[in-house]
Amino acid sequence: MASDDFEAGWRILEDLTSNAALIQQQVLEEIITRNANTEYLRSFLNGKFDKELFKKKVPVVDYEDIKPYMERIASGEPPEILLDSPVPELLISSGTSGGKPKMVPSSTEYLDKKLFGQSLRASVMMKRINGLNQGKWMFLQFMKPETKTSSGLVARSYITSLAKHIQQRKIKNDLYSSPCETILCSDIKQSMYSQLLCGLVERDEVVIVGAPFASTFLNIISFLEDHWKELCLDIRTGHASDLITDPSCRNSVSVILSKPDPKLADSIEQACSASSGKSWEGIVRKLWPRTKGLLTIVTGSMAQYIPTLQYYSGGLPLLSTVYASTECFFGLNLNPLCQPSDISYTLLPNMAYFEFLPVNSKDSDVFDEDSTIKENIVELVDVKVGQCYEVVTTTNAGLYRYRVGDILKIIGFYNNAPQVQIVGRRNVVLSLGPDKTTEEDLSKAVTKAQLHLEPFGFLLVDYTSYADTTSTPGHYVLFWELKKKEGSCGVEELDSKLMDQCCCILEEYLDDIYKMYRHENAIAPLEIRVLEGRTFDTLMEFFIAKGSSLSQYKTPRCIKSEEALGLLKSRVVGRFFSHKTSF
Ligand code: AMP
Repeated sequence: MASDDFEAGWRILEDLTSNAALIQQQVLEEIITRNANTEYLRSFLNGKFDKELFKKKVPVVDYEDIKPYMERIASGEPPEILLDSPVPELLISSGTSGGKPKMVPSSTEYLDKKLFGQSLRASVMMKRINGLNQGKWMFLQFMKPETKTSSGLVARSYITSLAKHIQQRKIKNDLYSSPCETILCSDIKQSMYSQLLCGLVERDEVVIVGAPFASTFLNIISFLEDHWKELCLDIRTGHASDLITDPSCRNSVSVILSKPDPKLADSIEQACSASSGKSWEGIVRKLWPRTKGLLTIVTGSMAQYIPTLQYYSGGLPLLSTVYASTECFFGLNLNPLCQPSDISYTLLPNMAYFEFLPVNSKDSDVFDEDSTIKENIVELVDVKVGQCYEVVTTTNAGLYRYRVGDILKIIGFYNNAPQVQIVGRRNVVLSLGPDKTTEEDLSKAVTKAQLHLEPFGFLLVDYTSYADTTSTPGHYVLFWELKKKEGSCGVEELDSKLMDQCCCILEEYLDDIYKMYRHENAIAPLEIRVLEGRTFDTLMEFFIAKGSSLSQYKTPRCIKSEEALGLLKSRVVGRFFSHKTSF
């Protein structure tokens, strides 16, 4: 299916979602039939190809349960431990949202499914937004340097894997402004510079601007703020900067930057310098005037970036279109122009076999007993609207009843396929004792406090947290980086009364158990520590140096690494505490 044949794509989607129940059973049957004789499944099924036996016997697992199998494959044991087919590579997850990076096998079917999902996404967008097939998509993606396991198997991020396969299979990629070589350049600075340069040269053709996650996109804006003068010089002279040293990246950029274009350089310079020093409000629209939307994920832990994205994009629609992870492609937002609060993803029943474990916010740990899990788990077509679940997936790439760690809320059905909102990760991020604050709780409280700041001209660039137990009682600490809409934000401009109010609002919106313990002074007042500008960029660089991928990077909402905590603490410019007394 070609991505510009969007009507065909839409028909496929109608068919998949209408036949969700049947397709789910077929997917499961195919996976069991092919893999029943692998070491892993044989130990539960005795080689029988039986779906009911699968549901009865195969345990629902976490990454830690199957990690030994991944390590065995990495060290060169045959893939038949888990899969009937060869493992061309191992895929590494970002590990930033849920803890340590994970390693899972890839397979040809898996890659085909991911490419199919991407192409279906293009169809949905073209069907819903006029003119998207009459221009270029400036969608910046970054590769993470590959590594090899002790047995020589390549380990890479899934975005790198997709880009490599698009290149190897010579799949037509001219919808995008970034040549494959610029994405595959492992030096992030060169890659970002080159992709921006191409996107600026083709500025008048660009109809979509974006990056996989909102946090990645904002990092690109920071980079642009630092490099626009150099980029303009390149366009003015027709010579790419010496910063691009990677030969294939340089070659591909030179094809696009074929001649000097002083007129284009002038108009980019005008857009950037008119804004420079004051604010970059609406810079995306100014630089790419034909853009119809900002394509980036703004749901789940990314929701916090919405005000900043709206500010830089000049109110462009935020197109949050895909829900996918290293382990599995889940679904698509079929109504990309909807408001961020209405975004939901329709699960695609052909991507994997999906099961759902009901959770009542904090009760997810109740389902740690295998027997309780098996009693409560339901299939895709049996989910209930309004209920939250943890998603469990069985894939063509050696994952069987695997808990991804995402909590989803069912908000309806498209035909017979559930539509989900991403509530957050399963893990509790903050706890000093019986209080358990999840990523979702924290994000809700921060969203409320952030609203309080906005009328005063402040943007919350990013946040993270930790539970400080160095004094008794312990307390929650939130690290905030703030930016003034007009120009930079020094700590002297922070009104301590305003910040104290933010601390109080945060506590107000935490849950009843937290408030009960605060009321009894078993938890000390919540603290906000304001950070120097660009601290979260430095934190991201820190995690990337440790092996995270920029395209998949998500700011950890709770800092566990002592080293990262040290970095944050060294950049604190102001400390504020809640004075809330009644709960
Ligand atoms: P990774 O394992 O690095 O590939 O990251 C995948 C994780 O990113 C998922 O399990 C989700 O927690 C998160 N994620 C992916 N897509 C979305 C989305 N559309 N909205 C919110 N979070 C997402």
